[in-house]
Amino acid sequence: MNKENTEKLYSAFPQLYSGLYEDESYENFMSIGFECGDGWFDIIYELSSMLHQRFSNQGIKTILVKQKWGSLIYRINLHNEEIENMISEAMERAKSTCEYCGKDNAELYVCVRWRVVLCKDCAMKGKECLPINEFFESANRRKKRLTK
Ligand SMILES: [Zn+2]
Repeated sequence: MNKENTEKLYSAFPQLYSGLYEDESYENFMSIGFECGDGWFDIIYELSSMLHQRFSNQGIKTILVKQKWGSLIYRINLHNEEIENMISEAMERAKSTCEYCGKDNAELYVCVRWRVVLCKDCAMKGKECLPINEFFESANRRKKRLTK
């Protein structure tokens, strides 16, 4: 995520993201920043806002935000069902939101072996981006050729 969006999140939720300016440790990976594309900014902002409203008086703090295998990963220092539900909802939205531009109806692509959720336009711009099903089909065809 770019600096401008990172600053927006920090200035709106300084307690949640205090880790951005603290040393990295097992309790804090936020010093690396938000390790995902800017297309997910709105999702993260809305999740942050809900977490802040409900749990800021309980010392809530985000430990890590990243994209892994095309999924949004969000870890915080408190655990309860309400928080799990808020995070699951954000993860669901990220599954169909382009990580680059934020457009809806995005799908999971494999781009040079990286899994990314993209809209069609962004996938066209990317080098060697295949929808995940086509990627597996071509990988399996390759495998069959090799094992013959
Ligand atoms: Zn896009």
